[in-house]
Amino acid sequence: MTIPISRVELGADVEESVLRVLRSGQIAQGPEVAKFEAMFADAHQCRHAIAVANGTLALIAALRSLHLEPGDEVITSPFTFVATVNAAIECGLTVRFADIGDDYCLDPQSVPSVLGSRSKVLLPVHLYGLTANMGALARIADHNNLAIVEDAAQAHLAKFGGRFVGSWGTACYSLYATKNLSTGEGGVVTTNNDETARWLRTFRNQGMVERYVYEMSGLNYRMTDLQAAIGCVQLPKLADWTRARQENAKFYNENLKGVTGIVLPDSDGEREHVFHQYTIRVTRQAKKNREELAAVLNEAGIGYGFYYPRLVTDYSCFAGHPQVRLDSTPYARAISEETISIPVHQYLSSAEKEKVVSTIVNAM
Ligand SMILES: *Cc1c(COP(=O)(O)O)cnc(C)c1O
Repeated sequence: MTIPISRVELGADVEESVLRVLRSGQIAQGPEVAKFEAMFADAHQCRHAIAVANGTLALIAALRSLHLEPGDEVITSPFTFVATVNAAIECGLTVRFADIGDDYCLDPQSVPSVLGSRSKVLLPVHLYGLTANMGALARIADHNNLAIVEDAAQAHLAKFGGRFVGSWGTACYSLYATKNLSTGEGGVVTTNNDETARWLRTFRNQGMVERYVYEMSGLNYRMTDLQAAIGCVQLPKLADWTRARQENAKFYNENLKGVTGIVLPDSDGEREHVFHQYTIRVTRQAKKNREELAAVLNEAGIGYGFYYPRLVTDYSCFAGHPQVRLDSTPYARAISEETISIPVHQYLSSAEKEKVVSTIVNAM
Protein backbone atom coordinates (compact mmCIF):
# COMPACT_ATOMS: atom_id res chain seq x y z
CA MET A 1 0.00 0.00 0.00
CA THR A 2 1.34 3.42 -0.86
CA ILE A 3 -1.07 4.98 1.65
CA PRO A 4 -1.43 2.49 4.53
CA ILE A 5 -4.45 2.53 6.85
CA SER A 6 -2.12 2.92 9.82
CA ARG A 7 1.53 3.77 10.15
CA VAL A 8 3.97 3.41 13.04
CA GLU A 9 6.96 5.76 13.10
CA LEU A 10 9.46 5.59 15.92
CA GLY A 11 12.10 8.31 15.92
CA ALA A 12 15.60 8.69 17.32
CA ASP A 13 14.05 10.06 20.54
CA VAL A 14 12.29 6.73 21.13
CA GLU A 15 15.48 4.81 20.36
CA GLU A 16 17.42 6.94 22.85
CA SER A 17 14.80 6.55 25.56
CA VAL A 18 14.61 2.76 25.18
CA LEU A 19 18.40 2.46 25.02
CA ARG A 20 18.78 4.46 28.21
CA VAL A 21 16.40 2.11 30.05
CA LEU A 22 18.04 -0.93 28.47
CA ARG A 23 21.45 0.18 29.69
CA SER A 24 20.16 0.99 33.17
CA GLY A 25 19.56 -2.72 33.75
CA GLN A 26 16.10 -1.93 35.19
CA ILE A 27 13.84 -3.29 32.48
CA ALA A 28 10.78 -4.66 34.31
CA GLN A 29 8.19 -2.35 35.93
CA GLY A 30 10.03 0.50 37.62
CA PRO A 31 10.49 4.28 37.50
CA GLU A 32 9.62 4.66 33.79
CA VAL A 33 6.22 3.03 34.34
CA ALA A 34 5.57 5.36 37.29
CA LYS A 35 6.56 8.35 35.17
CA PHE A 36 4.39 7.21 32.26
CA GLU A 37 1.40 6.72 34.58
CA ALA A 38 1.78 10.24 35.97
CA MET A 39 1.98 11.68 32.46
CA PHE A 40 -1.02 9.66 31.26
CA ALA A 41 -3.14 10.70 34.25
CA ASP A 42 -2.15 14.33 33.74
CA ALA A 43 -2.99 14.24 30.00
CA HIS A 44 -6.43 12.79 30.78
CA GLN A 45 -7.06 14.99 33.82
CA CYS A 46 -7.76 12.05 36.10
CA ARG A 47 -6.44 11.15 39.53
CA HIS A 48 -5.02 7.74 38.69
CA ALA A 49 -3.60 5.88 35.69
CA ILE A 50 -2.57 2.26 36.23
CA ALA A 51 -0.42 0.75 33.48
CA VAL A 52 -0.79 -2.90 32.55
CA ALA A 53 0.59 -5.22 29.87
CA ASN A 54 -2.18 -4.69 27.29
CA GLY A 55 -5.66 -3.31 26.73
CA THR A 56 -7.42 -6.64 27.19
CA LEU A 57 -5.88 -6.98 30.66
CA ALA A 58 -6.91 -3.38 31.39
CA LEU A 59 -10.54 -4.41 30.75
CA ILE A 60 -10.18 -7.58 32.84
CA ALA A 61 -8.59 -5.70 35.74
CA ALA A 62 -11.26 -2.97 35.64
CA LEU A 63 -14.05 -5.57 35.64
CA ARG A 64 -12.35 -7.55 38.43
CA SER A 65 -12.12 -4.40 40.54
CA LEU A 66 -15.94 -4.44 40.76
CA HIS A 67 -15.94 -7.76 42.68
CA LEU A 68 -18.92 -9.25 40.85
CA GLU A 69 -20.41 -12.73 41.02
CA PRO A 70 -20.25 -15.29 38.22
CA GLY A 71 -23.31 -14.86 36.01
CA ASP A 72 -23.62 -11.15 36.70
CA GLU A 73 -24.26 -9.34 33.45
CA VAL A 74 -22.32 -6.83 31.40
CA ILE A 75 -24.14 -4.84 28.72
CA THR A 76 -22.02 -3.82 25.75
CA SER A 77 -21.99 -3.28 22.00
CA PRO A 78 -21.79 -6.19 19.53
CA PHE A 79 -19.94 -3.92 17.10
CA THR A 80 -16.50 -4.03 18.71
CA PHE A 81 -13.20 -5.83 18.78
CA VAL A 82 -13.54 -9.29 20.36
CA ALA A 83 -11.35 -8.28 23.34
CA THR A 84 -14.30 -6.42 24.89
CA VAL A 85 -16.28 -9.65 25.10
CA ASN A 86 -13.32 -11.92 25.89
CA ALA A 87 -12.46 -9.77 28.91
CA ALA A 88 -15.97 -10.11 30.38
CA ILE A 89 -15.98 -13.87 29.73
CA GLU A 90 -12.62 -14.23 31.48
CA CYS A 91 -14.14 -12.55 34.55
CA GLY A 92 -16.93 -15.15 34.70
CA LEU A 93 -19.52 -12.60 33.64
CA THR A 94 -22.35 -13.01 31.15
CA VAL A 95 -22.38 -10.66 28.17
CA ARG A 96 -25.52 -9.03 26.80
CA PHE A 97 -25.80 -6.73 23.84
CA ALA A 98 -27.70 -3.54 23.21
CA ASP A 99 -27.97 -2.05 19.74
CA ILE A 100 -25.88 0.83 18.42
CA GLY A 101 -26.80 4.21 16.97
CA ASP A 102 -25.54 6.32 14.06
CA ASP A 103 -22.49 7.12 16.19
CA TYR A 104 -21.56 3.39 15.98
CA CYS A 105 -21.66 3.26 19.80
CA LEU A 106 -24.15 1.86 22.32
CA ASP A 107 -27.56 3.43 21.79
CA PRO A 108 -28.87 4.49 25.23
CA GLN A 109 -32.46 3.86 24.06
CA SER A 110 -31.64 0.25 23.32
CA VAL A 111 -30.16 -0.51 26.77
CA PRO A 112 -33.44 -0.89 28.78
CA SER A 113 -34.54 -3.86 26.67
CA VAL A 114 -31.60 -5.96 27.93
CA LEU A 115 -31.66 -4.80 31.56
CA GLY A 116 -32.46 -7.47 34.12
CA SER A 117 -31.94 -8.40 37.74
CA ARG A 118 -28.38 -9.58 37.06
CA SER A 119 -27.30 -6.44 35.14
CA LYS A 120 -24.26 -4.99 36.90
CA VAL A 121 -22.05 -3.23 34.34
CA LEU A 122 -22.54 -0.91 31.40
CA LEU A 123 -19.53 -1.25 29.10
CA PRO A 124 -19.67 1.33 26.30
CA VAL A 125 -17.05 1.10 23.55
CA HIS A 126 -15.87 4.46 22.23
CA LEU A 127 -15.53 3.11 18.73
CA TYR A 128 -13.19 4.77 16.21
CA GLY A 129 -12.34 7.49 18.77
CA LEU A 130 -15.85 8.91 19.26
CA THR A 131 -17.25 8.59 22.77
CA ALA A 132 -20.58 6.93 23.30
CA ASN A 133 -23.38 9.16 24.56
CA MET A 134 -22.07 9.20 28.13
CA GLY A 135 -24.68 11.69 29.36
CA ALA A 136 -27.61 9.38 28.66
CA LEU A 137 -25.68 6.19 29.50
CA ALA A 138 -24.57 7.57 32.87
CA ARG A 139 -28.21 8.38 33.71
CA ILE A 140 -29.25 4.81 32.88
CA ALA A 141 -26.37 3.46 34.96
CA ASP A 142 -27.39 5.67 37.89
CA HIS A 143 -31.04 4.63 37.81
CA ASN A 144 -30.21 0.96 37.57
CA ASN A 145 -27.24 0.78 39.90
CA LEU A 146 -24.79 -0.24 37.16
CA ALA A 147 -21.06 0.36 37.26
CA ILE A 148 -19.52 1.96 34.18
CA VAL A 149 -16.40 0.48 32.58
CA GLU A 150 -15.45 2.26 29.37
CA ASP A 151 -13.61 0.52 26.56
CA ALA A 152 -11.44 3.48 25.56
CA ALA A 153 -8.92 1.38 23.62
CA GLN A 154 -9.47 3.65 20.60
CA ALA A 155 -10.24 6.87 22.45
CA HIS A 156 -7.12 8.45 23.97
CA LEU A 157 -7.89 12.12 24.75
CA ALA A 158 -11.53 11.77 23.64
CA LYS A 159 -14.05 13.84 25.57
CA PHE A 160 -17.77 13.95 26.22
CA GLY A 161 -19.26 17.21 27.44
CA GLY A 162 -15.78 18.55 28.15
CA ARG A 163 -14.98 15.55 30.36
CA PHE A 164 -12.35 13.00 29.48
CA VAL A 165 -13.57 9.42 29.37
CA GLY A 166 -12.86 7.55 32.58
CA SER A 167 -14.53 10.08 34.81
CA TRP A 168 -17.72 7.96 35.07
CA GLY A 169 -15.97 4.90 36.53
CA THR A 170 -12.95 3.31 34.92
CA ALA A 171 -11.70 3.71 31.36
CA CYS A 172 -9.52 1.07 29.72
CA TYR A 173 -7.00 2.08 27.08
CA SER A 174 -4.89 0.01 24.70
CA LEU A 175 -1.37 0.97 23.66
CA TYR A 176 -1.18 -1.65 20.92
CA ALA A 177 1.01 -0.78 17.91
CA THR A 178 -1.76 0.69 15.75
CA LYS A 179 -3.65 2.66 18.41
CA ASN A 180 -3.48 6.47 18.63
CA LEU A 181 -0.80 6.11 21.31
CA SER A 182 1.40 3.05 21.29
CA THR A 183 4.08 1.24 23.26
CA GLY A 184 4.00 -1.89 21.07
CA GLU A 185 1.80 -3.70 23.58
CA GLY A 186 0.40 -1.97 26.63
CA GLY A 187 -2.72 -0.86 28.45
CA VAL A 188 -3.88 1.67 31.02
CA VAL A 189 -6.84 1.90 33.39
CA THR A 190 -7.80 5.39 34.52
CA THR A 191 -10.04 6.26 37.44
CA ASN A 192 -10.75 9.06 39.87
CA ASN A 193 -11.54 6.57 42.64
CA ASP A 194 -8.66 6.19 45.12
CA GLU A 195 -9.82 2.82 46.43
CA THR A 196 -10.22 1.34 42.93
CA ALA A 197 -6.76 2.63 41.97
CA ARG A 198 -5.20 1.07 45.03
CA TRP A 199 -6.94 -2.25 44.34
CA LEU A 200 -5.78 -2.23 40.70
CA ARG A 201 -2.16 -1.50 41.63
CA THR A 202 -2.15 -4.34 44.12
CA PHE A 203 -3.93 -6.80 41.85
CA ARG A 204 -1.59 -6.26 38.87
CA ASN A 205 1.39 -7.12 41.09
CA GLN A 206 0.37 -10.53 42.53
CA GLY A 207 -1.62 -8.84 45.32
CA MET A 208 1.62 -7.65 46.91
CA VAL A 209 1.58 -4.44 48.96
CA GLU A 210 5.11 -4.80 50.36
CA ARG A 211 7.82 -7.28 49.61
CA TYR A 212 6.25 -10.70 50.35
CA VAL A 213 3.20 -9.14 51.97
CA TYR A 214 0.14 -10.24 49.99
CA GLU A 215 -3.20 -8.62 50.54
CA MET A 216 -5.08 -10.67 47.99
CA SER A 217 -4.58 -13.25 45.29
CA GLY A 218 -3.49 -11.11 42.35
CA LEU A 219 -1.75 -11.71 39.06
CA ASN A 220 1.14 -10.32 37.01
CA TYR A 221 -0.36 -7.70 34.69
CA ARG A 222 2.66 -5.40 34.81
CA MET A 223 3.99 -3.24 31.99
CA THR A 224 7.77 -3.12 31.50
CA ASP A 225 9.97 -0.04 31.77
CA LEU A 226 11.03 -0.64 28.16
CA GLN A 227 7.46 -0.11 26.99
CA ALA A 228 6.95 2.86 29.31
CA ALA A 229 10.15 4.40 27.90
CA ILE A 230 8.44 4.43 24.48
CA GLY A 231 5.24 5.87 25.97
CA CYS A 232 6.98 8.67 27.87
CA VAL A 233 8.48 10.00 24.62
CA GLN A 234 5.28 9.57 22.56
CA LEU A 235 2.74 10.93 25.03
CA PRO A 236 3.79 14.62 24.80
CA LYS A 237 3.12 14.39 21.04
CA LEU A 238 -0.34 12.87 21.35
CA ALA A 239 -2.25 16.17 21.41
CA ASP A 240 -0.60 17.29 18.15
CA TRP A 241 -1.15 13.90 16.54
CA THR A 242 -4.80 14.04 17.55
CA ARG A 243 -5.17 17.51 16.04
CA ALA A 244 -3.61 16.20 12.81
CA ARG A 245 -6.13 13.34 12.72
CA GLN A 246 -8.96 15.82 13.33
CA GLU A 247 -7.67 18.08 10.52
CA ASN A 248 -7.55 15.11 8.16
CA ALA A 249 -11.10 14.18 9.13
CA LYS A 250 -12.24 17.75 8.53
CA PHE A 251 -10.73 17.64 5.05
CA TYR A 252 -12.59 14.40 4.30
CA ASN A 253 -15.84 15.79 5.77
CA GLU A 254 -15.62 18.85 3.54
CA ASN A 255 -14.62 17.00 0.38
CA LEU A 256 -16.78 13.88 0.62
CA LYS A 257 -19.89 15.73 1.75
CA GLY A 258 -21.78 15.65 -1.55
CA VAL A 259 -21.08 12.04 -2.55
CA THR A 260 -24.37 10.19 -3.07
CA GLY A 261 -24.99 7.28 -0.75
CA ILE A 262 -22.05 7.88 1.56
CA VAL A 263 -22.66 8.63 5.25
CA LEU A 264 -19.86 10.55 6.94
CA PRO A 265 -18.88 10.07 10.62
CA ASP A 266 -21.44 11.26 13.14
CA SER A 267 -20.53 13.70 15.87
CA ASP A 268 -22.11 16.54 17.81
CA GLY A 269 -20.94 19.56 19.77
CA GLU A 270 -20.76 17.54 22.98
CA ARG A 271 -18.16 15.04 21.83
CA GLU A 272 -14.57 15.43 20.81
CA HIS A 273 -13.81 12.77 18.20
CA VAL A 274 -10.13 11.70 18.15
CA PHE A 275 -10.46 9.74 14.88
CA HIS A 276 -8.70 6.49 15.63
CA GLN A 277 -10.47 5.58 12.40
CA TYR A 278 -12.32 7.67 9.83
CA THR A 279 -15.21 5.40 8.95
CA ILE A 280 -17.88 5.97 6.33
CA ARG A 281 -20.99 3.99 5.48
CA VAL A 282 -21.59 2.98 1.90
CA THR A 283 -25.37 2.70 1.68
CA ARG A 284 -27.60 1.17 -0.97
CA GLN A 285 -28.03 4.56 -2.64
CA ALA A 286 -24.31 4.65 -3.51
CA LYS A 287 -23.13 3.90 -7.02
CA LYS A 288 -20.83 1.14 -5.82
CA ASN A 289 -21.21 -1.09 -2.78
CA ARG A 290 -18.63 -1.32 -0.03
CA GLU A 291 -16.73 -4.25 -1.52
CA GLU A 292 -16.54 -2.55 -4.91
CA LEU A 293 -15.26 0.66 -3.33
CA ALA A 294 -12.67 -1.39 -1.41
CA ALA A 295 -11.47 -2.91 -4.69
CA VAL A 296 -11.04 0.56 -6.21
CA LEU A 297 -9.06 1.75 -3.17
CA ASN A 298 -6.93 -1.36 -3.29
CA GLU A 299 -6.19 -0.81 -6.95
CA ALA A 300 -5.13 2.78 -6.17
CA GLY A 301 -2.78 1.62 -3.38
CA ILE A 302 -4.96 3.09 -0.63
CA GLY A 303 -5.31 1.08 2.56
CA TYR A 304 -8.76 0.48 4.04
CA GLY A 305 -10.32 -1.65 6.75
CA PHE A 306 -13.64 -3.23 7.63
CA TYR A 307 -13.79 -2.65 11.38
CA TYR A 308 -15.48 -4.96 12.10
CA PRO A 309 -16.63 -7.24 9.29
CA ARG A 310 -18.97 -9.20 11.56
CA LEU A 311 -20.72 -8.60 14.84
CA VAL A 312 -19.14 -10.36 17.79
CA THR A 313 -22.36 -12.36 18.14
CA ASP A 314 -21.90 -13.75 14.60
CA TYR A 315 -18.73 -15.69 15.40
CA SER A 316 -19.48 -19.29 16.29
CA CYS A 317 -17.08 -19.22 19.27
CA PHE A 318 -19.27 -16.55 20.87
CA ALA A 319 -22.63 -17.58 19.44
CA GLY A 320 -22.28 -20.97 21.13
CA HIS A 321 -20.76 -19.64 24.35
CA PRO A 322 -22.66 -20.19 27.60
CA GLN A 323 -21.66 -16.71 28.85
CA VAL A 324 -22.86 -14.88 25.75
CA ARG A 325 -26.51 -13.98 25.19
CA LEU A 326 -27.50 -13.49 21.57
CA ASP A 327 -29.60 -10.36 21.91
CA SER A 328 -30.91 -9.06 18.63
CA THR A 329 -29.18 -5.89 17.35
CA PRO A 330 -30.54 -5.25 13.84
CA TYR A 331 -29.09 -1.78 13.39
CA ALA A 332 -25.60 -2.95 14.32
CA ARG A 333 -25.93 -5.78 11.80
CA ALA A 334 -26.95 -3.39 9.00
CA ILE A 335 -24.12 -1.00 9.84
CA SER A 336 -21.48 -3.75 10.01
CA GLU A 337 -22.25 -4.55 6.37
CA GLU A 338 -21.74 -0.96 5.21
CA THR A 339 -18.76 0.50 7.05
CA ILE A 340 -15.32 1.04 5.60
CA SER A 341 -12.43 2.93 7.22
CA ILE A 342 -9.93 5.00 5.22
CA PRO A 343 -6.49 6.32 6.25
CA VAL A 344 -6.71 9.23 8.72
CA HIS A 345 -3.42 8.88 10.67
CA GLN A 346 -1.21 11.82 11.55
CA TYR A 347 1.42 11.10 8.92
CA LEU A 348 -0.84 11.67 5.88
CA SER A 349 0.39 14.37 3.49
CA SER A 350 -1.93 16.80 1.68
CA ALA A 351 -1.27 14.97 -1.59
CA GLU A 352 -2.22 11.66 0.01
CA LYS A 353 -5.46 13.07 1.42
CA GLU A 354 -6.32 14.54 -1.97
CA LYS A 355 -5.65 11.20 -3.62
CA VAL A 356 -7.96 9.42 -1.17
CA VAL A 357 -10.71 11.97 -1.84
CA SER A 358 -10.37 11.98 -5.62
CA THR A 359 -10.29 8.18 -5.75
CA ILE A 360 -13.53 7.94 -3.78
CA VAL A 361 -15.26 10.80 -5.59
CA ASN A 362 -14.35 9.37 -9.00
CA ALA A 363 -15.46 5.87 -8.03
CA MET A 364 -18.78 7.01 -6.61
C1 LIG B 1 -7.40 -2.80 20.70
C2 LIG B 1 -8.69 -2.98 21.40
C3 LIG B 1 -8.80 -3.72 22.58
C4 LIG B 1 -7.71 -4.59 23.14
O1 LIG B 1 -6.50 -4.00 23.35
P1 LIG B 1 -5.14 -4.87 23.29
O2 LIG B 1 -4.11 -3.89 23.75
O3 LIG B 1 -4.96 -5.29 21.87
O4 LIG B 1 -5.30 -6.01 24.21
C5 LIG B 1 -10.03 -3.74 23.23
N1 LIG B 1 -11.09 -3.10 22.73
C6 LIG B 1 -11.04 -2.40 21.58
C7 LIG B 1 -12.26 -1.69 21.10
C8 LIG B 1 -9.83 -2.32 20.86
O5 LIG B 1 -9.80 -1.63 19.72
